[in-house]
Amino acid sequence: MGKLGGIDLGGTKIQAAVMDETHTAIGTARCPTPASEGPEATAKAMAQMLTDAATAAGIKVSDLDGVGIGTPGEMEGDGVVANVVNIVDWSGPFPLAEKVGTALGGVDVLVGNDVDVATWGEFKLGAGQPYDSVLGVFWGTGVGGGLVLNGERWRGRGSAGEIGHMVVEIDGRTCGCGRKGCLEAYAGRRSMEAHARHLVDKGHHTKLFDIAEEKGKDHLTSGVFAKAVRKHDKMAGKLIDEALHMLAVTMASAGNLLDVDAVILGGGMGTRFGNDHLEELKTLMRPHEFAVEPPVVLVAGLGDLGGAVGASLLFVEDDDAAAAPAA
Ligand SMILES: [Zn+2]
Repeated sequence: MGKLGGIDLGGTKIQAAVMDETHTAIGTARCPTPASEGPEATAKAMAQMLTDAATAAGIKVSDLDGVGIGTPGEMEGDGVVANVVNIVDWSGPFPLAEKVGTALGGVDVLVGNDVDVATWGEFKLGAGQPYDSVLGVFWGTGVGGGLVLNGERWRGRGSAGEIGHMVVEIDGRTCGCGRKGCLEAYAGRRSMEAHARHLVDKGHHTKLFDIAEEKGKDHLTSGVFAKAVRKHDKMAGKLIDEALHMLAVTMASAGNLLDVDAVILGGGMGTRFGNDHLEELKTLMRPHEFAVEPPVVLVAGLGDLGGAVGASLLFVEDDDAAAAPAA
């Protein structure tokens, strides 16, 4: 395999990267996700970011052996994706691979689930490298999960790994999925923001929205939360503490069920808060862990680029599978 491209379609941003033959990122580009403009505009922005990443790497898109995409939504085969809830007018099937491939002048494009490819990236090149079985927990706009069991990606019948929709409180807070009490309703960045607005409407005070305005953000990014916590904003501190607690309970429960070697915490919020709060997270997990030797907990090693790097690995999966020892 030669040089490869990867694009991570996130709820708030599109991250593209170009990797050399050793899978090292040699050019990157990112932009906000045009979520209010629909799938066509999103596909166009994705192609543009990949082109910019190639330019930054000093190569042409036509020099790439392929471009992998990690995206939320339902995979319908042949790079067709449906039901991307964060982007308007994307409930029906949309030929994402074809649209991006055409916009990139006919380069080969493969599409995979975003957290699934990010977990695969961590397993192959990041924090999960020493292990056979890992659970990836991606704490960002929402909370997603990916599984590698005995060296193989595990998707169940198509929708395994939805750790964000494990119930942490019966009849609890309403989740973006419409159900109640899911982890994501407490720890997803978007839900945390909605809850902060709700508290402000009830008369509580916070610097969160002022900080967002200062930073020119129209929502509470992980950076906004981090700055508010540094400024000792009480509401921000409480929201982060609550998110960590709910994550810990869920990660411990998932560990009890799967007994994987490692749980890897990634995502925009996970990489920003994970390192500083790793010991706290482990302490919060401990009372709920059944095994004497529970899974190790690590912060994702590929950082912000993990999704894009993992997506590019969609092209090397077959080679590696052939080279890997039989399970
Ligand atoms: Zn849910």
